[in-house]
Amino acid sequence: MESRVLGKTGEKIPVVGMGTWALGNSGGEQRREEIKALQKGIELGMKFIDTAEVYGHGRSETLVGDAIRDYREEVFLATKVAPENFAHDDIIRSCETSTQRLGVKFVDLYQLHWPNPRIPIQETMRAMQELVDTGKTRHIGLSNFSVEQTMQAQESLPRSELVSNQLRYSITSRSIEADLLPFCEKERITVIAYSPLDTGDIPIGRIPKDMLAKYEMTPAQLMLNWVTYPDPVVAIPKAGRESHVEENARSVDVRISRADYQALSRKFE
Ligand code: NAP
Repeated sequence: MESRVLGKTGEKIPVVGMGTWALGNSGGEQRREEIKALQKGIELGMKFIDTAEVYGHGRSETLVGDAIRDYREEVFLATKVAPENFAHDDIIRSCETSTQRLGVKFVDLYQLHWPNPRIPIQETMRAMQELVDTGKTRHIGLSNFSVEQTMQAQESLPRSELVSNQLRYSITSRSIEADLLPFCEKERITVIAYSPLDTGDIPIGRIPKDMLAKYEMTPAQLMLNWVTYPDPVVAIPKAGRESHVEENARSVDVRISRADYQALSRKFE
């Protein structure tokens, strides 16, 4: 699996990881299938898992914890704190609860899930810095923050560099190209592309068949290959089904040419 440098850290993470929204909501066979899917992804090199405290009110974190029990050291583990918990003491408590559910001592990346203008960003970032200082998270990231909000968050964090901003990005959802993508590239902030398959709404009919044949790719693989073409971008397609995970893990085995990348970009502009 191809990897990319995370922010300015020099550390590398897989270019295609695994999203876990809505995982862990069912029990029985479905739960076993989701755990198997995540473990298959780890075996295939997608050693980057993203979850959040709000996913299934913690059930996604619990499921991820079960899936990675024997793989903790191999996996780059990211979770998120919900905006209603951005007050200092709430963040500290949320992170503790998340690590307990995940069954780990620390996470690799702790992200602010959405901006919360009602709580001063200085207070929020003071708590995030404390989590780094006490070893509860190795890195700090954002999600759904605008350029201005990202700059304010960084200014409130004098002793750490933000490593990432998790943003919606796919061949059919391109709004970050106007400002956030070039900003993150310039500032060396990793863009973690969420909903990279447009939540499953894959535009099969619009993807050129000759390109799929040329690279022997499925439409989903071409979408993941396209979305991770720009340097700062890694992607986290949802990983609840083993067959999809296997398909997604092979999406960057070969890279489409620059000309084909540009042709696809224009087609879906
Ligand atoms: P997504 O990954 O773009 O799409 C998920 C859908 O695509 C599911 O229906 C899945 O089906 C299907 N799928 C997966 N692989 C496929 C393949 N190879 N071929 C055909 N269909 C495939 O959407 P998402 O779940 O919204 O986004 C991914 C992750 O990003 C989430 O799981 C979550 O971790 C994160 N996220 C973050 C935010 C945020 O605010 N930060 C918001 C949304 C999502 P199956 O379930 O049957 O495999």
